[in-house]
Amino acid sequence: MPPSEPKTVMYPKAILRLAELFSKLPGIGPRQATRMAFFVLREGDNYGRTLAAAIQDVNKNIRSCPQCFRSMDVNGSSHNGLCEICADQRRDGRSICVVEKEIDIPNIEKTGAFAGVYHVLGGTISLLEKDSPERLHLKDLYRRIEELSASGAPLEVIIATNPTTEGDATLLYLERILSPLKERFSVIAISRLGRGLSLGAEVEYADEVTLENALKHRTQTS
Ligand SMILES: [Zn+2]
Repeated sequence: MPPSEPKTVMYPKAILRLAELFSKLPGIGPRQATRMAFFVLREGDNYGRTLAAAIQDVNKNIRSCPQCFRSMDVNGSSHNGLCEICADQRRDGRSICVVEKEIDIPNIEKTGAFAGVYHVLGGTISLLEKDSPERLHLKDLYRRIEELSASGAPLEVIIATNPTTEGDATLLYLERILSPLKERFSVIAISRLGRGLSLGAEVEYADEVTLENALKHRTQTS
């Protein structure tokens, strides 16, 4: 008997298609994606329909806050079109914490050490993709800071990107594009998180104490 050739097991097309879509989700590899597809199959029609509707709902019923780019419900907001953080009068609208992703915000909120508002970039500058600055809400940040500066009152921009290669590249890029504004308006202070955040300790996963320290020991850029 000749040694048998390794064989590939093929799954039905619908499973392969669903698995391929699941494999695009963050942190999901091909094997997990296949397991998820079989899970949907096992759960039956009702679950599949509910899942599909929930996914559509996310795209239909959520929009971005025009000021900070956090997501918010299309309906049900009575804050002059802004999200509840931007609209909150008790918060300091002249202290802006710039984060990579919206999911970094709950962790910063948990520390209780920040009473300002946010700006969600929507990602990082990728060293490999030349057009990545275009994808981020950088122009909006620039305009926001420019408008706020015109009043002449002090303003702080805290750059809370992650201590990763791309987070650092984003930080440097932000400092560079904001520096002409800083020269024009002496009221702007730009700071970065203190490196209590160790390498790889991303804002999304950092514990409260670490994050609070990083906020407290933020350093002003020259
Ligand atoms: Zn907002």
